[in-house]
Formats: sequence, structure tokens, C-alpha cells
Amino acid sequence: MFTQIKQINQDSLAEAKRWLESGESVAFPTETVYGLGGDARRDDSVRKIYEIKGRPSDNPLIVHVHKDFDLSSLVYDERPYAAELRKAFLPGPLTLVYKSRGAVSNLVSCGLDTLAVRVPSHAGAQEFLKFVDMPIAAPSANISKHISPVSAEHVYEDLKGKLPLILDGGRCTGGIESTVCDVTGEYPVVLRTGLVSAEMIAQVTGKCDVYIPKSGERVRSPGMKYKHYAPKCRTRLFSSEQLNEAHEEFLSLQKSGLRVFVLCEESELGAFPEEYVLNLGNTEKEMAANLYELLHKGEKIADVIVAIEPKKKDGVMAGVLNRLTKACAEE
Ligand code: AMP
Ligand code: MG
Repeated sequence: MFTQIKQINQDSLAEAKRWLESGESVAFPTETVYGLGGDARRDDSVRKIYEIKGRPSDNPLIVHVHKDFDLSSLVYDERPYAAELRKAFLPGPLTLVYKSRGAVSNLVSCGLDTLAVRVPSHAGAQEFLKFVDMPIAAPSANISKHISPVSAEHVYEDLKGKLPLILDGGRCTGGIESTVCDVTGEYPVVLRTGLVSAEMIAQVTGKCDVYIPKSGERVRSPGMKYKHYAPKCRTRLFSSEQLNEAHEEFLSLQKSGLRVFVLCEESELGAFPEEYVLNLGNTEKEMAANLYELLHKGEKIADVIVAIEPKKKDGVMAGVLNRLTKACAEE
């Protein structure tokens, strides 16, 4: 199949709609990462998404809708605090998990009785969702376990030949995936950290937990159990206290003839030669926005990325650290 990249306009949106109506997948930009979208109501369309990505069949998808979409047609909205969260953060990088009405394909939620719904704020995403006016099931538009795409080119590199159309909305400004938050219980529980932090949610609702699976327990957000977001080159991860060890590792790998690059926050860069650094930046916003872009760049130029965890661990950085740890995980 021939894959085209097109700017978002009335022609490309009409084409996207035709492809979706014929059961194909279309990639589209959001403020977090690019999504691989299909008609959430159709088994064949949803199955195709799993096939294209090579995604495990027990890792449920998020349904994307435009801001005026009738939420009550998809889910039971039982908790008053969920409306407060929507008012505070949507459209935006927050996915809410509700009790499902079963209006979309069962394959979307992998047999769970819940449905994850997201209303992206990206103008191009809103235009696309409004134009097609259907619930769009969409995971990140990359081969399963690889780094999430933050540009149309990243999508093309991973998925060319497997989908007909990539809608190009430029570089994603958020940089890491949406926060996934369960709103079925008495208070919200963050299942996946992201750009809307647990602290920000608690400010609205008074209370918010972050779910950490206990060993042996069935995970509540199945996607979180996988190694993820990984570059194709080798990685070595060091904590923010291990700057000296990271430096030694850098020198020893370099001595052995490997192309070694260091990924870390700006204030830690001093110890390393300028031409071998991947600079995450200073603020938590910058670090979230730069992480995947730099991992994509790194895998093209490095044999090994030596990554050093940023010092700040809470707020949005919880999401950044979660992605960085998984990107550098063994399995
Ligand atoms: P991705 O599409 O790669 O951004 O991953 C979607 C994330 O949302 C994964 O971590 C899934 O486990 C999670 N997710 C999707 N649907 C549900 C659901 N119904 N309940 C809990 N987590 C979900
Ligand atoms: Mg993903």
C-alpha cells in the first residue's frame, strides 16, 4: 500500500473519511503524540489497528472524539467529579476511563467493561474528529514497543506501506502520551501518568490516587505492563545521583569505539562533550516535549544512549520518568 503524508485541509479530511469508511486506518496529529485511528464501532477497523502496530491483543485502545461529541452515547458518566475534570482539563491530554455502554467494538477495550475516552486539544485533531464525526479508536502510531511518534515523519518511518494516509499537523508540542485516569470509583485514580499530573487532578477533586500494580495482581491499565517507547539502539539508564557512574560509562563505551550519546537535563550536561549530548532542556514542559524527539534522533546517530534521570520526580516529571524508564528497560 502507498502511504501519503498530507497537510490537513478539506481535501485530505474528505480522503481520510473515505479511508475510514472503507475500514482502513489513518494517522493524525494530537497535542501528545500521533495517533493511528480507525472507526471504533467496527471490529475489522479495530483489528486492523492491532495488526498494523503488532500490538498485543490485551492492550486496550483509547477512543478519541471531538469536543461536541455526545459522551453519553458511549459511556455511563456516573461520577460528578468527572464533569469537574472535563471542565478543568478538556479538550486536552487527559483520558478518562468510564463504564462502557458497549457502543463500540468489543476489541477496543479487550473485553474490559470500561472505555477510555479522550478529547484532544490539537486544532488539527479537532478538525479531523469533527469532520469524520465518529468515535476514533487510536493508539500511538508506531510499531508496538517502539518510541511514540511526535511528527508525521516518525509515523512514516515506522508504518509506511501499512496505511494509506498520514495527516500532518507538525511536531506535537506535548511530547508524551495523555494521562489515563479511571473515573469509575469514588475518587479518580491515575492509571498512566502524563501531562496532566495527579497533583493537578487532586487540586480539582480533592483526592487522586496513582495506581501502582501489586505483584501478581491483574493490572487495571493493561498497556502499562509492557516494555515500551524503546529506541532501536542500546540504552543505559542512571539515576540523578549516579552522575559520576554515568560519566565513567560514557568514557568506557566511547573508548571501546562505540558512538555514545548522553541524554539528560540541561543542568547535568557540563560533564559531557557538547557534540555527544541530547539536551532534554530545563523545565518539565520542555523535558516532556523533547523526550521522544531526542530518542528518535538518538537511535539514528548512536550505538548506545546513556540516559540520566532528571532530578525532579513529581508532577509532569512522573510521566517523563515513567516513559524514560520503560524506554530503557531490559524487557
Ligand atoms: P496507547 O494507545 O499506546 O497510548 O496506550 C493506551 C493506554 O490506555 C494503555 O496504557 C492502556 O492500557 C490504557 N487503556 C485504554 N483503555 C483502557 C481501559 N478501558 N481501562 C484501563 N486502561 C485503558
Ligand atoms: Mg503507545
